Amino acid sequence: MDPTNIPEEIIERAYEGKITKEDALFLLEIPPFKLFELADRLRYETVGDTVTYVVNRNINFTNRCIGTCGFCAFKDNTGYILDIPQILEKVKEAESLGATEVCIQGGLLPDVNIDFYTGIIKAVKTEFPHIHTHAFSPMEVYHAAKKSGITVGEALMCLKEAGLDTMPGTAAEILSDRVRDIICPNKLKTSEWIDVISQAHQAGINTTATIMYGHIETIEERIDHIMLIRDIQKKTGGFLEFVPLTFMPYNNKIGDEMIKVGKYATPGIQDLQLYALARIILNTHIENIQASWVKLGKKLAQVALFCGVNDLGGTLMEEKISSSAGSTNGQFMSAQELEWFINSSGRKPLQRNTTYKPILSGIHEQMKLKIA
Ligand code: SF4
Repeated sequence: MDPTNIPEEIIERAYEGKITKEDALFLLEIPPFKLFELADRLRYETVGDTVTYVVNRNINFTNRCIGTCGFCAFKDNTGYILDIPQILEKVKEAESLGATEVCIQGGLLPDVNIDFYTGIIKAVKTEFPHIHTHAFSPMEVYHAAKKSGITVGEALMCLKEAGLDTMPGTAAEILSDRVRDIICPNKLKTSEWIDVISQAHQAGINTTATIMYGHIETIEERIDHIMLIRDIQKKTGGFLEFVPLTFMPYNNKIGDEMIKVGKYATPGIQDLQLYALARIILNTHIENIQASWVKLGKKLAQVALFCGVNDLGGTLMEEKISSSAGSTNGQFMSAQELEWFINSSGRKPLQRNTTYKPILSGIHEQMKLKIA
């Protein structure tokens, strides 16, 4: 094979959503701009020139945690726990700023059960019925089920009845038990993550899918992870988007070990290759590839729009997990700034809700008025 060009048969398989692991490995060997070009073409043919974003707020209700993840810079066992009135205050503030979603996640508390989690959702939904609750990772759902002596399926039904709308597909890290045994040995195993996610989808709870890459995993393990997400999607159809999250190496054990041998965060070009590869592997299966501006920085996130990305995630308003691990990209970006940087890339901004339906009123229109 010509190592500088993508053979027709690989392009065909990309269009059909049938890229193989060997194809993916080959695509990482060709000049990156060829890879970006194919990803950009597939992005255009799937979603056109629209770049979406959501106005949301992250609420991390506690930073205490019984977990032992070696990459975590967020956990602090002398830290805080927000009570329900404090959580509601944050939701109220978010709503007043035009948020349509709150993303609620936190550490694993030793003495909570499912009632703790449903209590948060019920309180938010009672006061703010139209706010979308995007809450609790598969690890949190697993923890809630274990602590309550109920099955994961029962925990999911309790959360759904309480008003949970969708779930973040976090805690996925790298879906390989070799990697998990090193970076997060006490976290749910690969098969358990798949089980919680699949059961959520079957219960009608859509989720996102993530990958946290750039630490001890191999390139093949990254590819296997994306292909596993593709397999789950073929069975359930429940993923709304795929969100690559680059590892932040500061203030955590895994990062300290890497820094000792002179290894830091992933090079930007590798980030862009991963976004492009995700678009190509997931083509025809998952429409939305999201770049995290908090992890990548605003400027690289803008470049990612030319490498297969069509969504920039949320305005966030408050974000503690990446900033604890050394991200200096800020915790809030206004809808106005997001729209500006989408427009200035020659693309069309569109505010969406969590399930990718356009929002044609509210802050989007207000921003337009302000800009005009
Ligand atoms: S990543 Fe989450 S589960 Fe793991 S230690 Fe940190 S807060 Fe706990």
